[in-house]
Amino acid sequence: MSAISQKLANKKKQGLYRTRRVLSSPQQPMVCVDDVDYLAFCSNDYLGLANHPRVVAAFKRAADLYGVGSGASHLVLGHSKVHHQLEEALAEKVGRDRALLFSSGYMANVGVINALVGAGDTVFEDKLNHASLLDGGLISKAKFQRYLHNDTESLHRKLIDGEGKVAESNTLVVTDSVFSMDGDVAPLTDLSAICRQQDAMLMVDDAHGFGVMGEKGAGALNANGLTQDDVPVLMATLGKALGTAGAFVAGSDELIEYLIQEARTYIYTTALPPAVAAATLESLQILVDESWRQDKLQQLIKRFRLGAQSLGLNLMASSTAIQPVLVGGPDKALAMSQKLQDQGLLVTAIRPPTVPKGTARLRVTLSANHSEENIDQLLDGFSCL
Ligand SMILES: *Cc1c(COP(=O)(O)O)cnc(C)c1O
Repeated sequence: MSAISQKLANKKKQGLYRTRRVLSSPQQPMVCVDDVDYLAFCSNDYLGLANHPRVVAAFKRAADLYGVGSGASHLVLGHSKVHHQLEEALAEKVGRDRALLFSSGYMANVGVINALVGAGDTVFEDKLNHASLLDGGLISKAKFQRYLHNDTESLHRKLIDGEGKVAESNTLVVTDSVFSMDGDVAPLTDLSAICRQQDAMLMVDDAHGFGVMGEKGAGALNANGLTQDDVPVLMATLGKALGTAGAFVAGSDELIEYLIQEARTYIYTTALPPAVAAATLESLQILVDESWRQDKLQQLIKRFRLGAQSLGLNLMASSTAIQPVLVGGPDKALAMSQKLQDQGLLVTAIRPPTVPKGTARLRVTLSANHSEENIDQLLDGFSCL
């Protein structure tokens, strides 16, 4: 057997084989998969903006104006007026000097980390950081160290061990704000204080906080009162709560200028379609106009947690829209996901290597477009397992 078919066979044997569902509806609570309708709890569309009529209309208007493809990278001729407006609006939203658009969050993280550190530098990452952050650190040629999850003591020890480092070498500390597979929140204020004290630069990935946390969705740093001085590098994505696509990095004027010169995943890729930027501008306005969406999401989270606790489900310490139910083994997680699907409910089973061994889980994610009745339907589904 060839090496590839051997590896595929092993994946199947271990219950780790991945397959895709083919969707034929917009992203929304009721989705159509292979001609069957399901009530879904799997998307990161936390505010229900991915198919919001105003966002769709803004996209269409911009497509009439700009066409579809941007046709070039930002530095060549792909940087349209609407991209520029979006960068300004994002910077204002998160209270930073400037923001820079990237075509995806994965690319933003790889590009930013690699622009900021390289051989001779050190990067410290939370053990449970998103794969894009870990990959960015691993390929940077900087010394790469993981600290224990949300453990500021562990980080502090490692930073002190690295003291007496060569002058002019950079130290970067990187964390998710909300952890994507657990839903818990990093101790951002403490991390910021430690980084200041140890002269390290702090980068926070707010993919799951931007849009849902803070004043009118300004994000997790805003929710904790952390300014650009406290957290110099802020990254967030647009494909989650904002319902569109892409990502941005925000910080000082100097940081952004530097990234324009140095971030290879910014320089060597085609700019997002301008219509995506226009749709995102509309999403930003909806964060303000329909701030009930953030409140409703919080109510649904509470309702789900209360119900799940009374069913004795193994919830994690999460107060966010990510509400994983811990199961343990990958086969059991898959079987439970399948049983829910048989009842018309879609919940993704998350297995290693995405999460540590023995912690396979059903990752429930909630959206402001779910109704209270939808939550009760999900709880009923769990009670039948
Ligand atoms: C989704 C996600 C990313 C990647 O963003 P994309 O735009 O989907 O590439 C990065 N970081 C975190 C924490 C994420 O959840």
